[in-house]
Amino acid sequence: MFQKILIANRGEIALRVLRAAKELGIQTVAVHSTADADAMHVRLADESVCIGPPPSRDSYLNIHQIVAACEITGADAIHPGYGFLSENARFADILAAHNITFIGPSGDHIRIMGDKIEAKRTAKRLGIPVVPGSEGAVTEEKEAKRIAAEIGYPVIIKASAGGGGRGMKVARSETDLEIALATARSEAGAAFGDDAVYIEKYLEKPRHIEVQVVGDGRGGAIHLGERDCSLQRRHQKVWEEANSPALNAEERARIGATCAKAIADLGYSGAGTIEFLYEDGEFYFIEMNTRLQVEHPVTEAITGIDLVHEQIRVASGGGLSVRQDEVRFQGHAIECRINAEDPRTFTPSPGTITHFHTPGGLGIRVDSGVYSGYRIPPYYDSLIGKLIVHGRNRVECMMRLRRALDEFVVDGIKTTLPLFRDLVGNGDIANGDYDIHWLEKHLAAKD
Ligand code: ADP
Repeated sequence: MFQKILIANRGEIALRVLRAAKELGIQTVAVHSTADADAMHVRLADESVCIGPPPSRDSYLNIHQIVAACEITGADAIHPGYGFLSENARFADILAAHNITFIGPSGDHIRIMGDKIEAKRTAKRLGIPVVPGSEGAVTEEKEAKRIAAEIGYPVIIKASAGGGGRGMKVARSETDLEIALATARSEAGAAFGDDAVYIEKYLEKPRHIEVQVVGDGRGGAIHLGERDCSLQRRHQKVWEEANSPALNAEERARIGATCAKAIADLGYSGAGTIEFLYEDGEFYFIEMNTRLQVEHPVTEAITGIDLVHEQIRVASGGGLSVRQDEVRFQGHAIECRINAEDPRTFTPSPGTITHFHTPGGLGIRVDSGVYSGYRIPPYYDSLIGKLIVHGRNRVECMMRLRRALDEFVVDGIKTTLPLFRDLVGNGDIANGDYDIHWLEKHLAAKD
């Protein structure tokens, strides 16, 4: 087992990793920018190292400084959290060359899944259902038209180097397609320096359902069920739940087993998420995230399995702590992402939190790095905390969530708490009746 882990991240996820390391009796090193000197993860870590000025590229993305901090403190492993360097294959390779363990998959696996065309090809080869579409990049208009006619309109054109939902165009007819192909290619070239695009069948009203997997790196893997993350705004997840209100136990077991087998065959090591669009009972692979995700706690709530413990165990060569047949799914969990944002316009609201009171009681978990008197720096993302609620079933979970939201107090800044108070009282949400367009339509109707 590791002696000392350096946490190359900030905010709630740095604290989350720190807690898991402490439980395992591992020393912790926090790294921070000058803007985060008084952050909670810095205060609670055994040691801390300032790695640079506020901009992320000079601090949390500065590989040289982070490797130096590791060498100064004698840390033998790095947990990258999510975002920042967590899906940077070069970082994983550099750590390997320095004999520092990257708590995550190999650089090669990160690289495969980071290229959307390669990821889709790999998924298909491993038996994961994919969206019908082109086999690879499409450059010729004639070829594009042939593929579109074959899979049927509407189709979506996506940048192979895309990310964050950017560079996608929907075409509903052949005339649309000519324009969409040209604009998608020039936008992809400008945004990503790579104008390769591919074509997929466009799904009209899908849900976003993702499967949590953990591989042991030696040909073994388990799945921990799915999360429904259909409630999104501008492709950013807002509310996540496990299980999905749309799946039954048989569908869950089937897609889970398919994913676990694929991950085992790939020889994948660590936690990962296989993301799907789901429509009319069918799953369509869209991408794989090769890291821990923001919404991982809903899976922890219903399985009782600490995903960061599993990541650390696997990375240290200790294997998984559970077999698939020991995994039990109990009850229902919902996560609300609380952002320092205006709940109507979603513009960031940095500043000082004058009062911070979190709800408590049975089934309530709050993962947050902020406290009363904390000043939110304007340099990073606006997530200030996550409220995760667990109940024996979805109805109990929603009742408890409503109560927890009433108790939650964040003064001094604007937050997205009022949005969740609105959602928890909505009939469609109560019925689990929503797709990936629901939230944006709901918000537009309120304006
Ligand atoms: P990115 O990496 O840019 O986020 P994804 O491939 O994950 O791109 O897609 C982002 C979002 O775009 C999805 O969550 C979904 O909302 C939408 N989308 C992607 N592919 C399709 C498709 N074939 N049909 C309908 N919507 C899609």
